[in-house]
Amino acid sequence: MRASHIVILTGAGVSAESGLGTFRDTDGLWTKYDIADVATPEGYAKNPKLVLDFYNARRANCRAAPPNAAHEAIARLQREYPGRVTLVTQNIDDLHERGGSRQVIHMHGQILQALCAECGHQWGWTGMMELDDICHSCATLGAVRPDVVWFGEMPYHMEAIWARIAECDLFAAIGTSGAVYPAAGFVSDAQHRGARTLEINLEPSDNAACFDECRLGPASETVPMWVEGLLGDG
Ligand code: NAD
Repeated sequence: MRASHIVILTGAGVSAESGLGTFRDTDGLWTKYDIADVATPEGYAKNPKLVLDFYNARRANCRAAPPNAAHEAIARLQREYPGRVTLVTQNIDDLHERGGSRQVIHMHGQILQALCAECGHQWGWTGMMELDDICHSCATLGAVRPDVVWFGEMPYHMEAIWARIAECDLFAAIGTSGAVYPAAGFVSDAQHRGARTLEINLEPSDNAACFDECRLGPASETVPMWVEGLLGDG
């Protein structure tokens, strides 16, 4: 039976073939950097320059990376599927948007945005971020940080995400290791609400056993095939 509402959760794996490194794979970013140093409020307080430089490199890589066939297929599903398709991403890149998706819920923030730690103002940011940048709203000096959610901080849009999961009848996790909560718990939430669950990944994730179905392979191949099947032309 055709699902009336599909919730898709994407992770770093969907952008891997665009040239953006994942975090937890054997050659991932966490093998080169310590999470505590570059992705926690404490790391930022200790060495803000290291953190800004880390995200300056992520931002430059993101701007140079093209969307791939997986991003484009998900955008096509959002445009053409007769039911509702909600896209939630843990990715901080903008490849879903550049792949054609119009509605993307960025639960871990966006590398192409700045956040003022003083007043909470958020605005677009494409260049390098420096220690002496000034907030475009409150003019505080030195409070400008990347608008990304660090470990220990609350992800964005959680109420809206849980509401969508509660009413979906198909939940699909694509290219995520299932190691970071709360996103790793969405599959159980969806299942408790009676949704069918599907994992699409290069290899089984940490919580692969929680899914009803698992499709393995590179996202640029598996996701277009899945979408073609859902749209009835595969
Ligand atoms: P992760 O690095 O923990 O896991 C990546 C997953 O993708 C793994 O399960 C791996 O098997 C799979 N994968 C790798 N290549 C793939 C491919 N070609 N096709 C399909 N799957 C592939 O990433 P995660 O689960 O998203 O971890 C969560 C954290 O990583 C989030 O906080 C997210 O913000 C952050 N992150 C984002 C980006 C980005 O924005 N592009 C990049 C790295 C990490």
